Amino acid sequence: MKAARLEAGAFHIRDVPIPDPGTDEALVKLSAAGVCHSDLHLARGDWVGIPEIGSIGHEGIGVVEALGPGADRFVAIGDRVILGLGGAGGGYWCGACRQCIAGRTRLCVNTRMLMGTFAEYLPVWAPALVKIPDSLSDHEAPLACGGLTAYGAVKKLLAHGVVPGRSIAVIGAAGGLGHYAVQIATAFGYEVIGVDVGAQRLEFVRSLGASMAVDANEALDAVRGAVGGVDASLIFSAKMAGFRLGFDLLGPHGLMVCVGLPATSEGNIEINPFAFFAKDATIIYSAVGTVEDMRELVAFAAAGKVKSHVSRTGALSELPAIFDELEAARYLGRAVLTDLSR
Ligand SMILES: [Zn+2]
Ligand SMILES: [Zn+2]
Repeated sequence: MKAARLEAGAFHIRDVPIPDPGTDEALVKLSAAGVCHSDLHLARGDWVGIPEIGSIGHEGIGVVEALGPGADRFVAIGDRVILGLGGAGGGYWCGACRQCIAGRTRLCVNTRMLMGTFAEYLPVWAPALVKIPDSLSDHEAPLACGGLTAYGAVKKLLAHGVVPGRSIAVIGAAGGLGHYAVQIATAFGYEVIGVDVGAQRLEFVRSLGASMAVDANEALDAVRGAVGGVDASLIFSAKMAGFRLGFDLLGPHGLMVCVGLPATSEGNIEINPFAFFAKDATIIYSAVGTVEDMRELVAFAAAGKVKSHVSRTGALSELPAIFDELEAARYLGRAVLTDLSR
């Protein structure tokens, strides 16, 4: 079978043997794989300290084709499943450590990554698989990381007392994650102010249900004029300017939810302590979500409340071109590989 591999920082498509599923693993034949911005960062070596070798791709939809010992407790051959859980933490969690028991499975002391959806087959730890109805098309593969990450971030609003009805800002609202956050937060009942750049992207943000869409360069004045400041900002930007804006847009006691992972070369989040004091702000990070969040999101999507916006599809062999296009921000929403066999 064909599989994408990162080798010494360079990206190749290789012919490799079809893997066997191990204990508690299901072999999934992938019918679609989403191309996440994280894959681009990995392929480009943007994050200093992250290994530059291994399988990549962490969003997929496929069908269970074989089961390793014990996996039949979780799935059956023929089940159509979505997999990924954002890669980090989607490969295994022990269920018994302090973090697992608290519901933070990504932080499990025995956690494993789930990587390798840019391939025809992938063996996956079966408890991490979520069954999906046939009504959800293969184009919904990016729900597995992009959608889940946005869903997890919106749920953080509730956990921190930002109730539906209040104004929130989504920074990077037309992007691969942001476009989900606008739909999900709108469905939860928030007044969503979508921030992005350029008329076409703002029009897209409005079409997703945002009550207001503003250009990043005008956002501060527009938001202050409209609502004073937002109760929360969700930051999906891959640029540090987006993080600065997200903080500046906050009203008193605002919640800043950081989600984007800019390249290391973008530098650090800088907050003026006096501004921090004056706003009495809360700053948190929100990373992906749990398998239970994934189940909730699948139900949400099946009910028609969130939909992946896919602007580009292609075969595995087109991945290098898709990475170039993604880097140049040449399309809205997401790209999905719909043929992993060539
Ligand atoms: Zn654990
Ligand atoms: Zn991802």
